[in-house]
Amino acid sequence: MKAPRLHIPIHYLKGVGPRLAGDLEHLGIKTIDDLFAYYPYRYDEYELKDLAEVNDQEQTTIVGKIQSEPLLHYYGKKKSRLTVRILSGKYLIQVVLFNRPFLKRTLTLGSVVTVTGKWDRNRAMLTASEIHAGEPDPGSKWSPVYTACSGISVRKLRALVKQAFIQYPDCIKENLPAAFIERYRLTGKREAVRTIHFPEDQEQLRQARRRLVYEEFLLYELKLHAYKQLKRVSQNGVQMNIDRPAVQKFIEALPFALTAAQERVVNEILSDMGAAFSMNRLLQGDVGSGKTIVAAIALYAAAVSGYQGALMVPTEILAEQHADQLDGLFAPYGITTGLLTGSVRGKRRGTLLRGLAEGKINVLVGTHALIQPEVIFRKLGLVVTDEQHRFGVRQRGALRLKGKEPDILYMTATPIPRTLALSVFGDMDVSTIDQLPGGRKKIKTYWVQEKIIDRVIHFMRNELEQGRQAYVICPLIEESEQLDVQNAIDVYTHLSQALPEFKVALMHGRLTPEEKEAAMDAFKKKEVQVLVSTTVVEVGVNVPNASLMIIYDADRFGLSQLHQLRGRVGRGNVQSYCILLADAKSETSKEKMRLMAETTDGFKLSGYDLKLRGPGDFFGSKQSGLPNFRLADMIHDYRTLTVARDDASRLVKSHEFWHADCYAPLRETLAESGLTQTVHLD
Ligand code: ADP
Ligand code: MG
Repeated sequence: MKAPRLHIPIHYLKGVGPRLAGDLEHLGIKTIDDLFAYYPYRYDEYELKDLAEVNDQEQTTIVGKIQSEPLLHYYGKKKSRLTVRILSGKYLIQVVLFNRPFLKRTLTLGSVVTVTGKWDRNRAMLTASEIHAGEPDPGSKWSPVYTACSGISVRKLRALVKQAFIQYPDCIKENLPAAFIERYRLTGKREAVRTIHFPEDQEQLRQARRRLVYEEFLLYELKLHAYKQLKRVSQNGVQMNIDRPAVQKFIEALPFALTAAQERVVNEILSDMGAAFSMNRLLQGDVGSGKTIVAAIALYAAAVSGYQGALMVPTEILAEQHADQLDGLFAPYGITTGLLTGSVRGKRRGTLLRGLAEGKINVLVGTHALIQPEVIFRKLGLVVTDEQHRFGVRQRGALRLKGKEPDILYMTATPIPRTLALSVFGDMDVSTIDQLPGGRKKIKTYWVQEKIIDRVIHFMRNELEQGRQAYVICPLIEESEQLDVQNAIDVYTHLSQALPEFKVALMHGRLTPEEKEAAMDAFKKKEVQVLVSTTVVEVGVNVPNASLMIIYDADRFGLSQLHQLRGRVGRGNVQSYCILLADAKSETSKEKMRLMAETTDGFKLSGYDLKLRGPGDFFGSKQSGLPNFRLADMIHDYRTLTVARDDASRLVKSHEFWHADCYAPLRETLAESGLTQTVHLD
């Protein structure tokens, strides 16, 4: 690839001295290109209005003449309020500025200023977000607003961008091939950038944005695909010799037939494991779609080909359940399963670790205790992480280092649309189980007010009398574990009294692991009919006889979490119910409750959840490495993302992309972001 082209340093721009250049660098602007790409985050509409036409609390811009000396008043720590009287048209109004004491000098009696702010009609007061000398800029009635910092005002930034358009318009070069521009009727690059800074009307702005969003996505997806392609041709991963007939026998011995979706993902996984690159795959599937058995098949295949496998899960309860289940499946084949959690200590722990290092243990199941340094595998070939969103990037990475480039499989029960998953989890491949095992009845979900709890208990008694079991999830008070526990105890006491003929057990985070295990065990063995719990049962727990899930304060939970909780029932073939107790006052809460009652489709719910919470919140702070786009939004612009992804996938596989002139600018941008190798196609 060609060397990247030179970038013009920002201090070449007229009016930018060393000091301003330093300040600009704080904003990440070092070159003219950086400045052009420093897009406004919103626009002020400079339609000058007569105050008579402005509604109370509305944002507006006015021009006026200063009628009084400004008054500066300090209060609190470093807080200030600056007020000045201004005559605008026939209105004498008060203008207030918070925390900008330095503006006092500039507001001289008799001078003309343009003020933008919120109008308080009753008090004839404008709370200003912006104020500057003179009449507003002629021309556009839209004014870009940039993230500013001390030393550089929004106004200064506007002036600099304008200057850059005068001095260096040629810095903005078209980087998309003409064929693409034509096919999607895209605005040219220079015009799009100019418009994004200085738009003249809504439609023009929409088109500019559309073009720049597509470009951002395309470049991002090209990078993803090119890296993946490179990784696939590198051959430094574990290459297992998968014994397909043995795996087939194992599958046939299961008590049920795999769903078509399970079969498909098993094949995707096994073919990665048998290949020379190391697998990095996300397995997503709705709650109850049967991911565990898929993981079991992969772990079995690894063990049969002479490698060890590890399964990391977020809670001890889950670790125990999985270890049990795997041991039941593997023992007949002479494959040994071990369990490692924080509560495995002393001699038991020593024996386990020794067995692991010697290769006597084939499959190790555990919590994040697995990543401790003293855990050493003899020949680790496959790492599976269940409920991957529960672990940080670092924890997941640490497990990978326990082997020599082992294959990795992440499992998640919060499935999202495929293109989004592939884009968010950049370097992973994605397998999706999009089908539930047959014979399942849809869980009936009802949203009720908390005051009818007696009727709910009546309903519960009915279910219990038929030999079923129930989970009751307690109110959640995020700030205080203490209160969570208290709530759980209250609910437990109430239910024990209301249902004396049944056995009720209590589970919460303050119990010792042994106590939790005992409660869970009793529930599994049907010795206990009602399990009152905080959210510790949220993930993965599997008790097929439980048919009723009652969730207190349901509106406090996120949609995905509610769906997870609900997924604890409906695992057998009896009709199951989920009852959401919530007073749900806000519109969002009501909407959430309605969605839960309406749909049991995890894909749909995670889609809504993403929209309600936004990607940052949805994926959680642990899921760092979310791509950062200047304009594009993976949820909002999902359709464009899909188009860009398809284009990118086609491009990296084509000879022309890597060689033809019309793609040179795109290749150059890839090179600038660190991808300097050419991908060789076979
Ligand atoms: P999840 O994807 O939520 O982890 P599980 O792996 O816990 O789901 O599976 C849920 C239940 O469905 C388990 O009881 C499991 O044994 C059962 N199951 C899995 N696959 C099938 C299948 N193909 N047919 C019938 N039952 C299945
Ligand atoms: Mg699971």
